Order: sequence, then C-alpha cells, then structure tokens
Amino acid sequence: MAFEKELIIRNVKYFSTAGKVEEGNIFIRNDKISRITPPAKLENMNGDNVIDGRGKFAVAGLVNAHTHASMTLLRSYSDDKALMDWLNKDIWPIEGKMKREDIYWGAALAAVEMIRGGTTTFMDMYGPNMEEVAKVVEESGMRGVLCRGIIGIFDGEEKLQTNVDLYKNFNGAANGRITVMFGPHAIYTCPPDFLKKIAEVAGSLGAEIHMHMNETLDEINDCMKNYGKRPFEVVAETGLLELGFLAAHCVHLSDNEIEIMRKKNVRVAHNPGSNLKLASGISPVTKMLRKNICVGLGTDGASSNNNLDMLEEIRLAALISKVEQMSPLVIPADTALKMGTEEGAKAVGLKNVGRLEAGYKADITLWDMSGAEWQPNYNPVSLLVYSANSSSADTVIVDGKILMKNRELKTLDEEKIIHEFNACANRLTGK
Ligand SMILES: [Zn+2]
Repeated sequence: MAFEKELIIRNVKYFSTAGKVEEGNIFIRNDKISRITPPAKLENMNGDNVIDGRGKFAVAGLVNAHTHASMTLLRSYSDDKALMDWLNKDIWPIEGKMKREDIYWGAALAAVEMIRGGTTTFMDMYGPNMEEVAKVVEESGMRGVLCRGIIGIFDGEEKLQTNVDLYKNFNGAANGRITVMFGPHAIYTCPPDFLKKIAEVAGSLGAEIHMHMNETLDEINDCMKNYGKRPFEVVAETGLLELGFLAAHCVHLSDNEIEIMRKKNVRVAHNPGSNLKLASGISPVTKMLRKNICVGLGTDGASSNNNLDMLEEIRLAALISKVEQMSPLVIPADTALKMGTEEGAKAVGLKNVGRLEAGYKADITLWDMSGAEWQPNYNPVSLLVYSANSSSADTVIVDGKILMKNRELKTLDEEKIIHEFNACANRLTGK
C-alpha cells in the first residue's frame, strides 16, 4: 500500500462551500481534503501532523488569476504613466534585457510575497525563460498556471514554439501543480492571422488560452480602426474562444462582446488594482456576473499594482463595483471572497481547487484572527474582506504540503531570495 500522509486542522472556523462560516476539523490525506467533521472532541489531539485551528479562519487558498511574477523586478521603477507610454518607454526596454536568472529570482520573490499573503495558485504570463517560473513553482510548492506571453509583431513563430516547448515539458509537472496555457499577449501585439495560427497549435495540444482583452479605450479604438470590429469580435473569428479562454482585464465591453463571452464560456481575470492605477477604467463585473460569466481576480504585474496582495484585490473588487453601480448591495463580502478563491480557480481552468470540501485539493490558508483589526469577531468573512490585511495569513498549505506555518516559510529561503533578487534588479536598471 502506498504511504499515506495525514494532516489534521482541528477545531477551526472555516469558509464552507455554502458560503457560510462553519466550525469543524479538516482532514487532509496526501494532496486532498479527505473529510471535514463536525467540531468534536479533538482538543486533546496533538502531534506533528495536527494543527490547532482555534483562533484561525480556514479559507481555500487565494488564486491570483493574472500576474507577471518576474515583473517584481520593475516595481517602483516607473509609475504614474499612460499604459502605452509606460510599456514602450520604460518597461519593454528593460524586459528585453532580462536573462534567465532574472526571471528565476523575480518569480522567487513573487512566490515569497504571494505565500506570505495567503495565495496558493498564480496564473503567470511572461516572456522568454518561463521554465524558470516553472522551477519556482516546483521548489516553492505553489500551484502555477503558466503561459508564454507571445508578442506576435516580431519573431512570433519562435515565441509560439517556446510556448509549445513549455507545454510539452511542464504541463502536468510537479504532481500536477503546473498547468500550461498559451498566451497571445493582446490584440494590439498579435494580428488576427497570427492568432489563428496560435489557435491551431494550442488546439492540437488541447491547451487553453490566456490573453489580455479590452484593457483600455485606446486598445478598443485602435482595434476598430484596424479591423472595423471590437477585440472580442475579432478574437471570436480566430478559433481561440473555442479552446477554453481566460481573458485578463475586460474593462471596456459592448453588450455584443458580453454576449460572445457568455456563449463561449470565456472566463475573466478582473484586476481592479491595476485598472485603477493605470486609470484603465472600471470593469462591468456585476453585468458579467448577471450573465453567469466566471470572474476571478488578479493583481497583474507588480509594476502596475504595485504588490501581489490578493486580499487587497478582493477588497477592491467589492469596493470598485459598489461605486460603479452606486450601490453598496453589489458584490457582498462572500461574493468577493469566492472571486478570490473558487471562481479564480475555475477561471484559471483548475478542477477540484478553490473549495474546502472533501475531494478537493488541500490548498488552504489559515488566517490568524487574534489581531486588533479582527475585533470584535461578529463575522470572519466580513473581517477578512473589509478589515484584515494580508499579513494575517498565518499558515499556507498547497497540495497537502505546508508552505508556511505560523508565518515561517518552509520551502523558500527568503533572505537569500531578497539578496539575489536585488542584485538582478540593480543590474537591470543600472541603479
Ligand atoms: Zn497583465
């Protein structure tokens, strides 16, 4: 019989699938939650494999549905500029200089920040050397959905091939913790014929697609000028939407585009922090939710946010939609929390991730409720979404393995990572 490892979180309050706060004992066997039992007499149970859950709030691990992890290297390098100016003049020239080691240490720092903030899964799109991000996923113990960001206006074929290689080498790797998608960057960097080519190649492998969509008004206007249609209308004719499609941003959408998204089961990564900072606009999330479109949340890269704090995105998602609709009733706390967990997992194409339920993957964050901002404790969901900050993340478990316990990282050497990361950042920017 195979060796089976059991981990027990006893006497813990948890966010249940029904969206309620319940209390019980969570049993983890190998990589999955095996059962959740009612609060019973486990007070005296102790041992290496037992976590005392009293004073903690267990929630499925947060899912960052859109980021560019190694962009941490450019955090605070260039702020307060228009998107295209910022990309063309400041970001892309430095990104062009990034070497293999930069991608590795950039993603490693991102992993430290994400685990410390209670995030267990991230969806990453970046340039060359994505296998270094895969290495960070393997070593950190996190779950990662990776794609090569393909800018098709030059060397498109070569970049597409690196995405194929990434898929062949890493899809399903690290005990299934790594999934690979294809990442056409955006409509303004990939002409329709090239998008068709990506659809053919990804489709032949059975891979899904991740792409920036409808982020700014300039993007829509250029698309109308070049193709006489809006971005989703152009992409709908390339075959990409048939493959399983995760669209980042979706800020400016026509009713026809929302209808296309509904029909094709397009999933959305909403990035409220980045949309606010770049003044892209406010995504019509409530409208999409009314059409049953799956909406998860992402931080976007650390240089347009500027952190990888998913709890902040959850709060912003609730607040930004309330003001967009001029109604405090929309996106209540439990809906926002589900967007950061269960809906995020669905958005990035993961099955059996994002819920605390028997049979689901054991990806769990325990939030410490002892701080002043958690008092009085009438409603842990409300406290987590509207009051707590991400440093309340106390213990993080992915695939049944503990990545952080009592704020101590178990898989990554934080001090070394910060040191190597800063050496890379300074070399890149000459600072
Ligand atoms: Zn992005």
